Order: sequence, then structure tokens, then C-alpha cells
Amino acid sequence: MRGRIQRALSGFYYVKCADGQLYTCKARGKFRREGISPLVGDDVEFCEVPGGEGRIDEILPRRNSFDRPSVANIDQMVIVCSQAIPKTDSYLVDRMTAIAALKGCDVLICINKCDLDPADALREYYENAGFRTVSVSAETGEGIEALRAQLVGRLSAVTGNSGVGKSSILNALDPSMSLKTGEVSQALGRGRHTTRHVELYALGADTFVADTPGFSAFDTERMELVHKEQLQYAFPEFGPYLGHCQFPDCAHRKEPGCAVRKALADGRIGQTRYDSYERLYEMASQIKEWELK
Ligand code: GDP
Ligand code: ZN
Repeated sequence: MRGRIQRALSGFYYVKCADGQLYTCKARGKFRREGISPLVGDDVEFCEVPGGEGRIDEILPRRNSFDRPSVANIDQMVIVCSQAIPKTDSYLVDRMTAIAALKGCDVLICINKCDLDPADALREYYENAGFRTVSVSAETGEGIEALRAQLVGRLSAVTGNSGVGKSSILNALDPSMSLKTGEVSQALGRGRHTTRHVELYALGADTFVADTPGFSAFDTERMELVHKEQLQYAFPEFGPYLGHCQFPDCAHRKEPGCAVRKALADGRIGQTRYDSYERLYEMASQIKEWELK
């Protein structure tokens, strides 16, 4: 039988078939031996074994996969951010946009808590960087229908720092999800970790969203393995300038005649976006060639 993994928890995988039936499965031992983990979003071949549990025998080819959040076959990464408490660190957002772009995944910037802070400047900033954006308030419902329209027909993963309102947004999209939401600690300015596992929810026949554990400041020094030379393509606003630098192998850092830095100086590329590029470039530079094999 064939189905898609909806939820992964403590070694169990909850697989949903096209007919809507849900099966609890374990993965075959060979996956562990080969160092492969089935992921939420994976399409799998499985069979029922006596006793009621199913067994995943095969993972169908993936369109992409992510470590953090651990999901596969994502069409769109919805990155939730906010200017209200807890205020999102722009580097976290930029890092996520870069990872998504390098994996061939669309990005939607979703600015939440607009009832507390409309964050128009932030929205404009990301629009200028070439992203689709939507402003919402999970509290008042403002913008939730516009968000829904951006989700239809795709498998989206919702990510963002904890406390930013991911669970609240999913509840606003579908109250029947009744996900637990956490209080934001005023002292720490960040939310409690209420979302512990990744889960896929159906919002319609072909519309799915994966709720994921929020990334935290601790994750900032991790970067999925990437060639530093690839990073420039993960910044859509660099696009018009690539190929126009004096040196064909320009890293857009200290080289003379760099078209990207010229655009930065002219204000056509945002400073914090460029800063994130530099920081990610530094990190990618530390990855050893053999690690990328
Ligand atoms: P998560 O950790 O990203 O899932 O965040 P939660 O959904 O648990 O939300 C964290 C806190 O922010 C909760 O106390 C929510 O009630 C609050 N919150 C979420 N969205 C909004 C919003 O749009 N406006 C306001 N004022 N509060 C919100
Ligand atoms: Zn350059």
C-alpha cells in the first residue's frame, strides 16, 4: 500500500492512504542500518503486518528534505516572523530562506501579530528582497484568508522562532486542529516549546501544512551542508547583479568591481540581508569538501 507520513513520534510513523485511512507503522530495520530516517511528508510503500501495525518498506524518491525542521517533499516554506514580542531575529529568517531556496522550495514570509505591530517596513523589506509576503494576526483573524489562498494545492511547512504564533496561525486556519499554544515569557521574550514534533495537517483535498518545532537561537550556528559558491543563488535580490562583477568567481565580499556590493551601496540590496549572506558564507566556508560528498 502507498501513503504519506503525517506524523513521526518515538519510532512510530502515522501513514495516511489516499482513502483517508491512517496506519501506525514502524520502519524496516534496513533504514536505520543505512542511516535513513523516514520523514513527515514522505510518500512510502508499506504493508500491514499481523497484529495491526504496518511496516514501511520503501521511501519513494523525495523532491527535497530538511534536517530542521525534519520534513520532506515541501513545496513551500512558510517562515513566520513578528515585530512584536518575541521579535524575530532577521538572521534566522534569512538563513531559512536560503536553505529553502537551495532546496528548490518556495518561500512565503508570514508576518504575524499585526494587531500588536503592523510591521509594514519589515514586510516591504522582504518584498523588495523578492519574496511573497502576507501579514496576519492569528488573534484577530486579519489576513488569515489571504494566507490560506497562498497555501492551496501545496504542501507547506510552517516554521519560525518559538512564540511567534505558528500554532495560533494553524488554529486560525482550522480551529479543529486545536493545537496547544504557549504563553510568551515576557522575561525571556521567547515562547515555551509547546510544539515538539512535526505533524502534517490537511486543510483541503490537496492542501497540507506541516507544523514544526520552532527554531531557536541555539540553531543559528547550524547550517545544512552547502557549497559557499551556491549561496549567492539563494538570495533572490542578488539575481540581477550576478554575472556583472569584475571577477567571474566573485564572492561579493571584498573583491573590487563587485556588482552586488555596488547594489548594496546604492540601497538596492538590504543591509541586514547582505549581513546574513556574509555570515552564512563564513559558515559555509568552514564546511570541509569531504562533508559535501
Ligand atoms: P508558536 O510557539 O510559534 O507555536 O507560538 P504560539 O502559537 O504558541 O503563540 C505564542 C503566544 O503568542 C501565545 O500566547 C499566543 O496567544 C500569542 N499570539 C499568537 N499569535 C498572535 C497574534 O497574532 N496576536 C497576538 N496579540 N498574540 C498572538
Ligand atoms: Zn561580486
